[in-house]
Amino acid sequence: MRHSKKRPIHPQIKGFLITLFLGIILIIAAFISNQFPDEVNNLIEENLNIPTNSSNMITVNTVNNTVVSADSKLQIYFFDVGQADSILVIADSQTMLIDAGNNEDGPLLVNYISSLGIQRIDYLVGTHPHEDHIGGMDDIINSFEIGKIYMPDATTSTSTFQSVLEAISAKGLSITRCEVGNTFGIGDGICTIMAVENEEQSELNLNSIVIHMAYGEKTFLFMGDAEKANEDKYVWPDVDVLKVGHHGSDTSSSEKFINSVKPETAIISVGANNTYSHPSADIIKRLSDCGSTVYRTDESGTILLTSDGKTYSIQTFMTALDGNPSTANKVVNTENVVGQ
Ligand SMILES: [Zn+2]
Repeated sequence: MRHSKKRPIHPQIKGFLITLFLGIILIIAAFISNQFPDEVNNLIEENLNIPTNSSNMITVNTVNNTVVSADSKLQIYFFDVGQADSILVIADSQTMLIDAGNNEDGPLLVNYISSLGIQRIDYLVGTHPHEDHIGGMDDIINSFEIGKIYMPDATTSTSTFQSVLEAISAKGLSITRCEVGNTFGIGDGICTIMAVENEEQSELNLNSIVIHMAYGEKTFLFMGDAEKANEDKYVWPDVDVLKVGHHGSDTSSSEKFINSVKPETAIISVGANNTYSHPSADIIKRLSDCGSTVYRTDESGTILLTSDGKTYSIQTFMTALDGNPSTANKVVNTENVVGQ
């Protein structure tokens, strides 16, 4: 019979060795995690849910987090789509389309965006399912390679909404739900979801996805058709450029909100002689009183903002999407008068 030469390890020494081993592993893991390049950290940031604090101040990524390179370039087209919204953001090599005008704007948007040499929309946002925001989305989906589609969890019974769902499904795409505080990168820019309601609201405008974008030192806020109830729910940072909520209606842009965001430039997407009397004269005055320069698509046609992250400039086209002077502005859509 052989005697084992191994002496049993004393339980206390064993415990110490295990603790020491785990400690070394943790130190190595911490060291490795610090070695990831920024690109990987940026990817991890995608859709990271940033909790809001007790005062509902949303943490937005600002100049400290977004560093633009020497050849960085941002272009934002506020398309003249009449009484509707459609905004194309081109940040370096990535694109985001926020809303796609009315149904009849779809083919015009496809032509215009294609003519810019764009084949892919990395982020397609339908702020809320009203026709004047998602009307052309089916054409966009059918014509471009699409990355992520953001829409609030809100439905409506219109054939326009049905067409968008069918286009999404026919292409094997899906809708990504977003939550307040989610962030995503676009080129050198960082976007933060500032407001969205994913539960049924008394009306669809209140479901609007609101996006803040920081690009270098410049900040932008795209309101969709968000209204005062949405504004009242949060504390808002000041921004350089505001896409004014709900076509300049007085349902939106409360005094408190405008005094918080204090935009240097305010852009209103609105059709001439629309039946809603948008924009409200009170809202125009409120913006002017706080020092904003106001641009309107019914007066200026498509508006192009260009930035290197340090400064920005604005050009106006005085034409509709088809290249004809103010064609879109002469068309007042009276068929879809509900909830625009
Ligand atoms: Zn609208």
